[in-house]
Amino acid sequence: MPVALITHPACFDHDTGPHHPERPARLRAVLGALETPEFQHLLREVAPEAPESALRAVHHDAYVDSILAMAPAEGEPVHLDADTLMSHGSLAAALRSAGGAMRAVDAVMEGWARAAFVATRPPGHHAEPNRAMGFCLFANAAIAAHHARAHDLKRVAVVDFDVHHGNGTQAMFETDADLFYASSHQYPCYPGTGRPSERGVAGNIVNAALPPGSGSAEFRAAWQDTLIPALERFAPELLIISAGFDAHRFDPLAELNVETADFAWLTEALVRVADRHCGGKVVSLLEGGYDLEALAAGTAAHVRALMRH
Ligand SMILES: [Zn+2]
Repeated sequence: MPVALITHPACFDHDTGPHHPERPARLRAVLGALETPEFQHLLREVAPEAPESALRAVHHDAYVDSILAMAPAEGEPVHLDADTLMSHGSLAAALRSAGGAMRAVDAVMEGWARAAFVATRPPGHHAEPNRAMGFCLFANAAIAAHHARAHDLKRVAVVDFDVHHGNGTQAMFETDADLFYASSHQYPCYPGTGRPSERGVAGNIVNAALPPGSGSAEFRAAWQDTLIPALERFAPELLIISAGFDAHRFDPLAELNVETADFAWLTEALVRVADRHCGGKVVSLLEGGYDLEALAAGTAAHVRALMRH
């Protein structure tokens, strides 16, 4: 069965301005990396727009209403926080990001793809129930998890190897024992959450905080010793990955020293967990990654590992 690649050209039209790290060139780098012959058998799918009801499943109504009302029809962008903004094309891009995540869930649950990678922007893991944050408008991973429940799933896990803690996903999962969130991230770092003491309602939140300067050994140990064993105990029926590539040593936004090979190693390990617990069903969503070469190489390594199982 193929691996799906889900994207939409509207995601290039989320214009963050000339000096913003979360820029359209990121998506060009990601899609360019997946143009080589080894990826020719990816099943290429168009991301639909998420329906409003899916946004309202994880965000407060007032927040969704305000985003829909504030989206600029033309002209100047609207700032939502210090580094998160909406341009003319942003709402459509954000709806495709969330909708792509839902389409990926459909792909693996309906059985026409074994796994799916969603290459869209804006990313999602910082978006909280009631506010946009950290380049994120809608909480794509949490939206995907809730959508999975429409397929009669109960236990859904999100694992997050972006260098930043996914405060939004955690906020949406921490009171529901049937949702699991595990993250490795630099700490201290933006957004300031993600301490190991943040455990959720039933130990369903697991945080591995890595000091600045940590590299391959610390990253792999966190997953091998802490995060993957917890994921195994949770025994998910679907595994969703928040795939950010900004833990790479070349990334300009943080100070971890992870290598491209570590992204491959981790993806292979996560795929084995999915094989054991959920028939190999993996949905992976692009989050961060701001060095274009490291982002392209990390994406290729990640998708290659998704295709191998
Ligand atoms: Zn990040």
